[in-house]
Amino acid sequence: MTRQDTIYDLLIIGGGPAGLAAAVYASRSMMSVLVIESMLSGGQIATTENLDNYPGFPEGIGGMEFGQQLEAQARKFGTEMALATVTGVSLQGEIKTVETTEGTFRGRTVLLATGTRSRPLGAPGEEELKGKGVSYCATCDGFFYTDRVVAVVGGGDSALEEGMYLTKFAKKVYIIHRRNQLRAISLLQEKAKDNPKIEFLLDTVIEKINGRDHVESVTLLNKGENKTWDLPVDGVFMYVGLMPNTEFLGDSVALDESGYILANENMETSVPGVYAAGDVRQKLLRQVVTAVADGAIAAVMAGRYLDEKK
Ligand code: NAP
Repeated sequence: MTRQDTIYDLLIIGGGPAGLAAAVYASRSMMSVLVIESMLSGGQIATTENLDNYPGFPEGIGGMEFGQQLEAQARKFGTEMALATVTGVSLQGEIKTVETTEGTFRGRTVLLATGTRSRPLGAPGEEELKGKGVSYCATCDGFFYTDRVVAVVGGGDSALEEGMYLTKFAKKVYIIHRRNQLRAISLLQEKAKDNPKIEFLLDTVIEKINGRDHVESVTLLNKGENKTWDLPVDGVFMYVGLMPNTEFLGDSVALDESGYILANENMETSVPGVYAAGDVRQKLLRQVVTAVADGAIAAVMAGRYLDEKK
């Protein structure tokens, strides 16, 4: 029987920590499971150099390795993986269908675990210079800035963590933040302030990103002093927050005003048999540890839903 002929107990859209943890729990309890992932296992965490706040790993663990281990664990219990991009869903009724670039898959339950992606800043020049100095992933592109000067935009955990990572390569890292106060946790603030390669430009916004074939400078505005100047940089890394990957859902499940999926503490969405887990769900704390917990709960609830239908 081909995958297209199979009706899976659980179709999981998204192979990040939430989706793969659900796959481990569901396949271990003998449910048939297909995980649909468009890029690489681990999702966003795979682009993190070191995951150092996941309980049980005092030395941390590489994000890529963590994703691979999760996938291996899910496969060990029988999970199947499909490399495909989801283009649409039909979630009502007993049998739910997921349209993808590799064909249509069917399942009795569906878990939405598509996570988030980086939000663009929206500055003039950003779109034109994407991949030519404008980046959203320090782990992917940091190496190209060895002995160069880069700017990081944002004042949250990601901006500071990735800014520090970039100091491994770059000779100078400017962290540009729109307010006088950083949003990141104090531990990261202290570490970043102690780093001699990092300079903070606070109360400052990027007005424009300049360059012809590659980023050459950013035009900055210090809001307090109302001063504008051009800062020569070779690259700009954007860490100004996240956006949920929910466009493909249309109006098939209830979303909040920012596009995050509304689900209760049992991960149940507005549609029976459809669950949401991880960063894509409206929630307070977006961490790997909360994503895997969501995934475990969703898998158990999907199993109970199927038992009740028998
Ligand atoms: P975030 O916490 O939402 O921070 C986004 C930053 O970008 C904020 O400082 C914000 O400024 C700034 N910003 C937003 N829009 C902007 C604009 N248009 N122009 C200029 N600046 C703008 O996003 P994040 O840092 O990516 O973190 C996302 C989540 O992942 C958070 O929950 C975070 O705790 C978590 N995370 C955790 C870790 C860790 O535990 N090690 C690491 C990375 C991320 P304001 O401060 O003025 O709003």
